[in-house]
Order: sequence, then C-alpha cells, then structure tokens
Amino acid sequence: MLKKELGAVKFQEMQNKTFKVIQVVEKLCEFCDKPLSLEEKMVKTIRISSRNDYRNLFVRAKAHDRVEVDPEENKIYLYEHDYPGDVHPNCAKTMAKDTSEI
Ligand SMILES: [Zn+2]
Repeated sequence: MLKKELGAVKFQEMQNKTFKVIQVVEKLCEFCDKPLSLEEKMVKTIRISSRNDYRNLFVRAKAHDRVEVDPEENKIYLYEHDYPGDVHPNCAKTMAKDTSEI
C-alpha cells in the first residue's frame, strides 16, 4: 500500500483513472490525540479526466483534515477527526495516576 499526500501526486499519475473515494474517520483519544480506531467507508468513485478534475480535488481537500492518494490501488482517502469521548486504556491509567497525585 502506497499512500501519498494529495499534494505529492502529479496530475499525470491520476489522469484517466477512476478512483474509489474512501472516507476515513480517525477516532482520537481525548487524552493524547492519537487514534483509538479508524472507520473506513467508500463514499463514491470519481474519474480524473482533466486538469480541472484534478484541481477540484485540491479545492475539496480543504474541507478535510488531510487527503491521501494511493495511485496504484486507485484510491483517494479523505481523513476526518472525531472525538468519541473515549481514551486509550493506558491513557486512562495515566489520567487516574495524575489525578491521585494532586
Ligand atoms: Zn491516548
């Protein structure tokens, strides 16, 4: 699997290909901001035919946390962050320890 930042992928690498657009929601830990889990779902497919299609991707990318492209698997990943109000088990331990020291 070879994912690149959208900005690192040239138009020529994407031209005349149909991409699966996958929305990835990263559920982040309230304590350390690192992912607890990932949720992926395919939302649509898009075809990049013209430079305009390619430029539109960059416009749309601004609405997302980050966008990565896998030019070999023909997939576009749109990342979002979510805080489900949960923490890692280890972070919960650290929090409990911090609280007891106050
Ligand atoms: Zn954590």
